This record gives sequence, C-alpha cells and structure tokens, in this order.
Amino acid sequence: MDSPPYRHILILADIEGSSGCGSYRASSFMTRPWARACAAMSRDVDALAGHLFDAGVRQVTVKDFHRTGYNLLPEMIDSRARIVSGYRRGPVPGLGDPGDADGLMMIGMHAAAGTAGFLAHTLTSRLASLVVNGRPMAEVELFSASLAPHGIPPVFFSGCPAACGQARERIPGMPTFFIDKRIPPDALDAQRWRNEMARAAVQALDGRPAAPYCPAGPFQAEITIRDGRRAAAKMADPWGFERSGATVCIHAPDIHALYYSLIRLCYLPPVVEKSLPLSLALHNQLGRLGRLWVRRQLKIGYRH
Ligand SMILES: [Zn+2]
Repeated sequence: MDSPPYRHILILADIEGSSGCGSYRASSFMTRPWARACAAMSRDVDALAGHLFDAGVRQVTVKDFHRTGYNLLPEMIDSRARIVSGYRRGPVPGLGDPGDADGLMMIGMHAAAGTAGFLAHTLTSRLASLVVNGRPMAEVELFSASLAPHGIPPVFFSGCPAACGQARERIPGMPTFFIDKRIPPDALDAQRWRNEMARAAVQALDGRPAAPYCPAGPFQAEITIRDGRRAAAKMADPWGFERSGATVCIHAPDIHALYYSLIRLCYLPPVVEKSLPLSLALHNQLGRLGRLWVRRQLKIGYRH
C-alpha cells in the first residue's frame, strides 16, 4: 500500500456533535447523560484512530477539546493513539505544542454562535452571537487558523449538518461528515455511524492536498453576551474591550490576535491570566475528578 500523504494526524474532539450527546445536559459537567456521552465520544475517537492507523497513518494525537478537556476515556480508545487531556498554555491556545502533526481533523463539532445548529455556540454558550466582518464565526475557523503557523492544514470535519455547512463554506474543499442530531442517541446505530465517519476521514487523506487555513485580517468582531449588559461588563471591561450594553466590539489585525482576545473575553479574566499556571492546574485537577466520576457512573450503569 502507498503510504498516505499524512504521517501524524491531530484530532480535536468535541462532544456536542459526537454520537452520544443528545441535549445540552449531556454536554454539561457531572450529569448522568454526560457520562454516557463521554463513553460514546471515546468510541467515536477510537473508531477514527483505528481506521487512520489501518490506513497507514503512523501517529494519531487526540486533543480533548470540550469543557474541562477530560471527557475522553483513554481505556476505550485504540492504545496506539496518544490522548491529550486538559488544557495547556501556548503556542497553540489550549493545545500547547502540536509537535510534528501534519494534518488536522475535527470531530464532534458544532455550529457557530447565533446560528441554527445543534447546541450552536462559539467558545462558550455565554456568547449569543459572534459576528466577524459581517458573518458568524465558528470554532472551525479559529482552531484551524491557530494551527496554520505550524503548517498544519485542516483535512476533515464532522458535526451536525449546520456545522458541516459552515465548515465547507469557510474552508472550501474540506471533506465533512455529518451526524443527524434529530435522531436521539438511544435510537442511533452509533457503531455504524462512527465507522462510516471514520471511513470518510480515511478517504479525506487521499483528497487533494489541503493548505493551512489563515484568513487575512483585519477583523471586526461584534459579540452579543447572552446574559445582558451586566454580564458583558464583567467579561469585557477588565480587558478594556469596547462595549455598548450587551454588545462587545473587538478589533484585531489578524486572526491570532482575534482568537486570543476572544479567549480573554470568554475564559480569562486578568486575575486568572496572571496566575495561569495555577489556574490551569486547578482546572485540570477538576477535570480529572470529573472523569473519575464518569468512570464510576459507567460502572454503576453497566451493573444494571
Ligand atoms: Zn464542546
């Protein structure tokens, strides 16, 4: 067999567009449906990693990119894959060093804030909408662009139909594979779906060569905070972002500056950023505890 054009695939895995998440509750920390969704998300990743290795990919790194970053259960995933849980400091936000990955796959994804997709949001559900240069901006753009300086192109995407549509519109030519969120997880033939998704991803390896995604700036972002003016003030004012009522405006010369400003707005008040190593350590510890709880829930569930 010819060796595939990609040696090391980096997978960013989210939960909303994965096979076991049927509601907002199932995406929420420490709920029973979330525990089941973690197991299903792990099996999705397992199917994808297994198919990639079978197709000749040498290395697969999986970054858990939902909430705490501790949703994936490595014991359920092909042991050849490296699972990276929790969050790390730069150079790539949340991910740290992408190493020598040469292709990016995103699965379990959702559509942009303010658009009609399943659990649509960008970065956090606290943003009612995020409009950049006149159109909604999805995570697929931010994540893909964050890997462009490392020469890593986006090569495959999976999520609800709206998320896939946005991904194809922003990154023309990128293969996508959707999940029908109208089917509840209990009624979905999940193993069949994940195998089909994984086969589509393997096909994407042989597609036309992909280029890193880095749209040119400048960018004007208009962000509406869901909980109104007070919440917006709390998020935006400590950073000095321009704000009018519940609407925050961010001007950025390039997409990396935009992404970093959005991260500050959504996740990092100045006091957290100042003590980032400690904040990350605490956050990751909470994530590990949550994952222990998931394992217990699943064990109890299996006994019944
Ligand atoms: Zn998520």
